[in-house]
Amino acid sequence: MRPLDLYEKDSSKRITIYFEGKVLDAYDGEKLPVALLANRIYWITTSLQGRKRGAFTFGPLPVVINGVKNMNGRKTAVRDGMRIERQNYGEFQEVVEIGENKETIQEVVDVAVIGGGMAGIGAVLELQEHLTVAIIEERGWLGGAMSLKGITQEGFDGSPREVIDELTSKFNENVKVFKGTISLGVFDEGEYFLVPAVKKGQLIEIMAKKVILATGAVENILLFENNDFPGVFRLDFALEVMNKWGVAPGRKVAIVGRRPERVIPELEKWGIEYVVVPNPKRIEGEEGVERLIDMNNNVYEVDAVIMSDYRIPDINPVTQAGGKLTFKWGYYVPVIDEQNRIREGIYVAGSVTGIKPHYANYLEGRLVGAYILKEFNYKSTPAVYREKLEKYEPEALPPLHVDFKAMDLKDVQICGCDVDLKKVDDVVKQGITDLQIVKRLTHLAMGFCQGRFCLFNGAILVSQRTGKEMSTIDLPVARPPLKNVRVKALAKE
Ligand code: ATP
Repeated sequence: MRPLDLYEKDSSKRITIYFEGKVLDAYDGEKLPVALLANRIYWITTSLQGRKRGAFTFGPLPVVINGVKNMNGRKTAVRDGMRIERQNYGEFQEVVEIGENKETIQEVVDVAVIGGGMAGIGAVLELQEHLTVAIIEERGWLGGAMSLKGITQEGFDGSPREVIDELTSKFNENVKVFKGTISLGVFDEGEYFLVPAVKKGQLIEIMAKKVILATGAVENILLFENNDFPGVFRLDFALEVMNKWGVAPGRKVAIVGRRPERVIPELEKWGIEYVVVPNPKRIEGEEGVERLIDMNNNVYEVDAVIMSDYRIPDINPVTQAGGKLTFKWGYYVPVIDEQNRIREGIYVAGSVTGIKPHYANYLEGRLVGAYILKEFNYKSTPAVYREKLEKYEPEALPPLHVDFKAMDLKDVQICGCDVDLKKVDDVVKQGITDLQIVKRLTHLAMGFCQGRFCLFNGAILVSQRTGKEMSTIDLPVARPPLKNVRVKALAKE
């Protein structure tokens, strides 16, 4: 077994790959950073400013594969003989060429569901008997955040994998599933909405009469020194490497953040040693985490750090589609009407409307499906779902106080695309507090994640430095495309 494998894998799939010339064991089809992690290789790429980066915090993951530069390591499956080398960010941006040779696929459906988490699955199951549905999911599998968990979730019987398999096996012939497909946004097109999506460089144009945004939530990124260092894991990545790929994040991990209980049972299930460190200050190491130092100068010898904090709704798809935001429960959520609509024809369901257990998000998907059935004059019972949902008040996020004085802000990354906290703080301290202008001056939220992970921290910074309430801070509207792709045809270059 490789050093961080959690169990023996199928030996018939065993292959050899090369990283920086080093010979490594891997398994055919394994995700590239996972294959490297299993061999204890954390440092995979280098940021523009020369910072060592891994694959599991934030930011892009450009690598050289078989001599070809600017490949997205995060989306690459390893194959026998693959040669991988480090690369720095350079001009990395994934470009989707829509050329003469590739015909655009067009689909016309009643409802397009963006996001294949529990909310999206619930919506599909509700709608499919009477309406045609397309469900678009960026990951190569359905189930969203719940699919990464290894422990039975409240409201469901059985392991998350079993529940998801069972529910999705009920999809009927009215349902078209687009996995590994990124939706670029929602656009008005006469009586329809156009939902352009991209799968492996192929443009798919989905025309739908109604759209459901079930795009979920993202992990809150914690601010401390070297929070981008190889070996620091966002919680969703830590869960994915363990539960989906059977690889440990490290031998001894530190859990930081205000919700350690979100990861403790998962680590215990695999017998991974951990220590909870509530007040991280700095991470140090050569090519991966070697130690974590807290605000009281206690030193923890660990080889990985997991950020286990709160989730916050991913509001980019909402603002792109023309929705407005409000500040509630400590984070930004879409303004919705009594049928969960952000505007005529566009609905929201799941953790994008407020952070709740997976089962509640599933119910909300069904609820929105029921509203749409009614719109199409089919019999449905939204009130039943509404009543069940009442028991789930969304989770409140306590205000985060960043201890600016205790840290070297240059070493704290607020945005994966090489924007440090000092750069943003300097601008805010000059009195510039409009995030739209901060964005232009610092490049915060301009890159890889389009602000999904960093705008919230930008708002916290402005609020803390100026005393302005979070509710009065305007977040810049997301522009298409929602994800880090440049579609040449759309850009009309
Ligand atoms: P829960 O929060 O309980 O897990 P949920 O369904 O509300 O339920 P997620 O599990 O986060 O939320 O699922 C949302 C899914 O939407 C994720 O799997 C994510 O990959 C997908 N997604 C988000 N944005 C896009 C996009 N632009 N295109 C395609 N898929 C997307």
